[in-house]
Amino acid sequence: MQTIDIKNLKANDIIRKCVHCGFCLATCPTYQLLGNELDSPRGRIYLIKSALENNNTSANSLQHLDRCLTCRSCETTCPSGVEYGHLLDIGRAAIEHKRPLWQKASRFAIRKFLTTPTLFNTVGFLFQHSRIQTPIIKPKTSTKKYYY
Ligand code: SF4
Ligand code: SF4
Repeated sequence: MQTIDIKNLKANDIIRKCVHCGFCLATCPTYQLLGNELDSPRGRIYLIKSALENNNTSANSLQHLDRCLTCRSCETTCPSGVEYGHLLDIGRAAIEHKRPLWQKASRFAIRKFLTTPTLFNTVGFLFQHSRIQTPIIKPKTSTKKYYY
């Protein structure tokens, strides 16, 4: 008996809502910065659709999904109410197996480092007592005068 994947059904519902109008492009910071359709919500929806329907994915697709900030700013300008954030979660999980081993290892190491207090504190202590100099960022001074 064929099993029904609830996540794919949900993804299908969300994808079908998209009318490809492109209104979301105006509020997507990655599209504004990079100017590549595949780094826009509409482009990423296309990549996720392609991955779920044809299993047509590559490490390149993963990179475009990685670049998404998950800010969901695109949802605020979508006239069709596409739940992009939810779709992205499903898409990322579906494409994760394409991630190269070295990326998996480095991600695991960073996660471990940030969530293990003894490791984090030890490195912090060593850094604090080392001769490594970091540039001092001075606060910007305002020339404006305020009157109360
Ligand atoms: S604004 Fe909404 S419907 Fe239009 S392309 Fe973007 S996600 Fe699709
Ligand atoms: S969540 Fe943010 S970065 Fe990602 S597609 Fe939407 S607007 Fe762009």
